[in-house]
Amino acid sequence: MTIATQDKVLATASLPLAEQWLKEPGRAFINGKFVDHHNTAVIDTINPANGKRLGGFFASGKEDVDNAVAAARRAFRDAAWKKMARRERAFLLRRIADVIRANAAELATLEALDNGKLYKEAFLDDLPESADVFDYYAGWTDKFYAENCPVDEGFLNYTRHEPIGVCGLIVPWNFPLLLAMWKIAPALAMGNTVIVKPSPFTSMSLIRAVELIAEADILPAGVLNLVLGGADSGKLLCEHSGVDKISFTGSTQTGKQIVQLAGVSNLKLLGLELGGKSANIVFEDVPDLQFAIDRSFQAMFSHKGEKCSEPTRLFVQQKLYEQFIEALKERADKIVCGAQFDEQAQQGAQCNQPHFDKIMHYIAMGKSAGFRLVSGGERDMNGSNGQGLFVRPTIFADVDNRHALAQEEIFGPVLAVTPFETEEQVVAMANDTIYGLAAGFWTNDVSRAHRVAAELDAGMVFVNKYGCYDFASPFGGSKQSGWGKEMAVHSLHAYTKLKSVWVKL
Ligand code: NAD
Repeated sequence: MTIATQDKVLATASLPLAEQWLKEPGRAFINGKFVDHHNTAVIDTINPANGKRLGGFFASGKEDVDNAVAAARRAFRDAAWKKMARRERAFLLRRIADVIRANAAELATLEALDNGKLYKEAFLDDLPESADVFDYYAGWTDKFYAENCPVDEGFLNYTRHEPIGVCGLIVPWNFPLLLAMWKIAPALAMGNTVIVKPSPFTSMSLIRAVELIAEADILPAGVLNLVLGGADSGKLLCEHSGVDKISFTGSTQTGKQIVQLAGVSNLKLLGLELGGKSANIVFEDVPDLQFAIDRSFQAMFSHKGEKCSEPTRLFVQQKLYEQFIEALKERADKIVCGAQFDEQAQQGAQCNQPHFDKIMHYIAMGKSAGFRLVSGGERDMNGSNGQGLFVRPTIFADVDNRHALAQEEIFGPVLAVTPFETEEQVVAMANDTIYGLAAGFWTNDVSRAHRVAAELDAGMVFVNKYGCYDFASPFGGSKQSGWGKEMAVHSLHAYTKLKSVWVKL
């Protein structure tokens, strides 16, 4: 992956800008204003590529969350937002897209510094989509038709899609800006008001994006609010009876806690995008072996393995097994780990220390289980004096599919490879997991393609190219990978409630 010279200039210019901005602690944004904090401790955020303090923010307490909910409720009821013409709302969303695009280099810099991902990944992958999603949902504001229902003569019955109200949006640290924008854009397009909360590990890009949107004076006060902090502020949002919906992306474990919090408060609506342990199956009749190897490697190890839908379990049919493993090893051994702006680097630092420790724990577990370590299996010390959280791309072969290495979400660059003989056997192994986010397979047999696509219990199935995403296609998992779908028309359903209206004629 390379970036053009013109973009490199932007990147160089944006670093001092970002560093200057990081000098002041980030603050919550409530009712159109950044909150003044007194006597509140600053929570530090660390650059995972060198272990140094990057910046900080003030965590939001109960008073902030209460104020944010009250502001969002007022804005939701206010005619300025509620009665706004759909085309006007679309216009505002497009202006947000423009603001993100105009500041893409600075936002990508903050994203990369905070998360540890490479600048080129943030700039080329995360930022364009973070802007485009506002254009996409701007286009939907006046195209989401309701129904005219064919009831008995003498009545008119029709439905209305109405905004839900105050939506709490809670996002993780792997795509901090992008996943927030995936939620904010459709929620606003449908006329809701929102309170967004990033992960404490990666709050900076979202704070800056909200600041830029505020400076451009695009939205009425209270429509977009930001609260900061970790589980505590997240819980406050989830148990608040003034919040009508929580849209959450994060781990399955936290998702289960949120279900309980929603249940004991006001039975608020929930959208849950959770963890995964996705399977990638290579049948002997793979149409293009080289492409399958390249793509399987990239899907697994890009973004340092911190992607919910990455194919962390690889099943290869016996005849190709050793050849496939050898080809992956060749690629993995050559990967260069490095800091955000290192031009040679192909893999960035893992996002944070607890997460790094978790990955290393699973690697130790794989070693002690005696699985064949094909590549990696250790920390990478490249260019960081031992302070960077770099993990070599790690491949274990001959892994027992029932072992924790193949069953539990590691969320890092650790691949478990297992051989198989028959289609029936591999489908059973692929489905033998609590998760159901994604699955992929490679075959030249059109009957098998449709048969296996139907058999795999996953929300997204990729045939002959692992990892295809588009705003026009539903995103989300089954089983313990989540409730509901995002993207396309599904995000519009997710941020509206349906009303049936009867009129006696
Ligand atoms: P996490 O569950 O620890 O945290 C996610 C968010 O929830 C953070 O903002 C966190 O502060 C907040 N939070 C934590 N505890 C909370 C609680 N009790 N109540 C309310 N909020 C709480 O997840 P993470 O470690 O930040 O992210 C990694 C996880 O996210 C992985 O499991 C990954 O698979 C998942 N993920 C899923 C998708 C998807 O679309 N399915 C996408 C990206 C990441």
